[in-house]
Amino acid sequence: MTPARGPLRPLYAQASGSPIRAMLALAGREGMVSLAGGHPDPALLPAEWLRESLLEVAGQLQGRSLQYGATEGLPALREASAALLHQRGLAAQAEDVLITTGSQQAIDLLARVLVEPGEGVAVESFNYPAALQAFRFAGARLVEVPTEAQGMDVEKLEPILQAEGPRVLYVVPNFANPTGAVMPLARRLRLLELAAHYGVTLIEDDPYGELWFGEAPPPPLAQLNQQAGSPAQVAYMISYSKVVAPALRLGVLLAPAGIARGVVLAKQAADVHSGSLEQLTLAAMLTSGRLHSHLDSLRPAYAAKGAVLAEALRMHCGDLLEFDEPLGGMFIWAKLSNALPLLPTQAWVDFGLEHQVLVVPGAAFSISGAAQPWLRLSFANPAAEALRQGAERLGRGLRKLATTA
Ligand code: PMP
Repeated sequence: MTPARGPLRPLYAQASGSPIRAMLALAGREGMVSLAGGHPDPALLPAEWLRESLLEVAGQLQGRSLQYGATEGLPALREASAALLHQRGLAAQAEDVLITTGSQQAIDLLARVLVEPGEGVAVESFNYPAALQAFRFAGARLVEVPTEAQGMDVEKLEPILQAEGPRVLYVVPNFANPTGAVMPLARRLRLLELAAHYGVTLIEDDPYGELWFGEAPPPPLAQLNQQAGSPAQVAYMISYSKVVAPALRLGVLLAPAGIARGVVLAKQAADVHSGSLEQLTLAAMLTSGRLHSHLDSLRPAYAAKGAVLAEALRMHCGDLLEFDEPLGGMFIWAKLSNALPLLPTQAWVDFGLEHQVLVVPGAAFSISGAAQPWLRLSFANPAAEALRQGAERLGRGLRKLATTA
């Protein structure tokens, strides 16, 4: 007799929760410095701008605003989002964009509508874990594409496409999570060529593209594709979490009409529509025209925090860590020296508790979950002094590991 399965489908029963979420449960402990979460700095979240917009919206509330709304999103927010995409060089009308509950929902809905169980989804070897989870839950077979300092190694992609035949390729070309990598223009163009040739749908996830420090990244794949006359299928997403506030849970999807239709059907089944009060508030924020100046203040603030952490790591971790200066986004991706042992994720949780500094090990972002000689260090959330303290504690802990290895 085969053992009866429990109430959960095996796909969910066997899945592990996010190790990053487990780390974050420890982040609030007295005296802990967390370089683990990719959460914005609370001091940089626009509380006043949001409060003013909320009051404006509250003053105009009527029965109609409290009614069910369109699955595609509130017209005013679709309009403002299309204008934002326009500024990134994308031709988009309000009716082309869909409002989602964070870009996380767009990833999840795309996984559901694009991938049959058993079909392949190509992903970089180090990846945003919740995207991998969404593809796994859709029954996808994850197909690994090597990644390095310039993002997905597109030169190695063609034989993988030929051998594995993935239907979909998920990519974060700007300041990727966890690597911080930016894909150069030539690689973007080659990726589009390959996607068109092999009939692979691209999911381009771009939550960090506006958080550049020195210069803006190359244009989105979706824009390059439009410019070239749309030979490839590209579903492009942005998020309001990092540029406005994660609490709103709002993102934007621009996808070819056929894909968008499937996503709308899936969203009807998932949550009918994203919350109207959040959408009204964000629409009011965007139409106030303040996003531009907000971004102008966010970029140097995060750049300064990235520089503080990089300098402190150089000072305290010396030759035990190797990394590139962050160019944007929220992460430093640091390679551990081979003087250090390869440790499983739980050992880094213990390390965090012992040394009062939380870091996320590379294993959390790898497809196999196997130990990796990498750490993701986020400079976004802690204040500058805590970043310095975190680097100092990390250095002390790593030196202890090196001497006991
Ligand atoms: N994609 C990537 C690469 C991310 O790092 C994140 C959040 N950290 C998301 C998507 C989801 O963002 P949200 O749902 O808040 O828009």
